[in-house]
Amino acid sequence: MVRLLVMTHGPTILAIANQKGGVGKTTTAVNLAASLAALEKRTLLVDMDPQANASSGVGIPPRSARRTIYDALLGEPLSEVIADTKIHTLKVAPASQDLTAVEYELFDENRGSHLRHVLTSEAAQDFDYIIIDSPPSLGVLTLNVLGAAHRVIIPLQPEYYALEGITYLMATIDRVRAGLNPDLGVEGIVLTMWDGRNRLAHEVADQVRGHFRVFETVIPRNVRLSEAPSHGLPVLLYDVQSKGAQGYLTLAKELVYGPEAVPHHSAEQGAET
Ligand code: ATP
Ligand code: MG
Repeated sequence: MVRLLVMTHGPTILAIANQKGGVGKTTTAVNLAASLAALEKRTLLVDMDPQANASSGVGIPPRSARRTIYDALLGEPLSEVIADTKIHTLKVAPASQDLTAVEYELFDENRGSHLRHVLTSEAAQDFDYIIIDSPPSLGVLTLNVLGAAHRVIIPLQPEYYALEGITYLMATIDRVRAGLNPDLGVEGIVLTMWDGRNRLAHEVADQVRGHFRVFETVIPRNVRLSEAPSHGLPVLLYDVQSKGAQGYLTLAKELVYGPEAVPHHSAEQGAET
């Protein structure tokens, strides 16, 4: 992952995507966003999943947001939608169940570019990073996410069929490049729920590393990561010493500063539960 030192304006927009359910997309979106914010990067977490788990993960309970990203997709200013979190450098554009209607309501020829329109508006320019959580499907919502992003981060649970799912996602990314978003890049695959004692996990990881760009940082299976959302907190504010919190902080550093920022042999670690 070579970093180019170019002067750019506006935010870096990263999609967290994988059409497979339960692989750690939302956990990664919330905790990577919080970790970037902890590194003093002005960060916006955009929740594009009608399940709204990323919103509740940063303290916005279901149905409590007055305005959501759904309103912004239909033309309301993004500034009306953005809400504060407990971390002053982290803001959120929450989701609601209304988002399911997007599949039926956005029928125009620009149906895949509504989110890009929202994230190129003025209110989005105040951020260094925009992290977008997406639903476990490849429908109109995910299409909007891929249409708006500069690069994709793919969480992957290292299990037997993981590689097949990724091949399918990569084909979708290629299709998006062919039309909607020619500059879309892949930042890398993040191995999640890692248990270093599991031999299959190592085999799958080697295979994935042979085919795709993979982050050095692996996210361990860690019970704190699954407990934190029920308190409406990113894991950093729930248990900063936990392996989960440290994993996502390291991932954020790798993203910002490159692989040199990662201590060696993080993949040797077992899971702590
Ligand atoms: P969906 O496809 O439904 O949106 P997802 O890909 O967003 O799911 P998550 O919701 O992040 O996946 O994670 C699925 C479950 O696994 C959650 O209960 C979450 O708390 C738990 N989980 C995620 N990552 C870890 C981890 N590293 N260690 C332990 N539990 C984890
Ligand atoms: Mg999710």
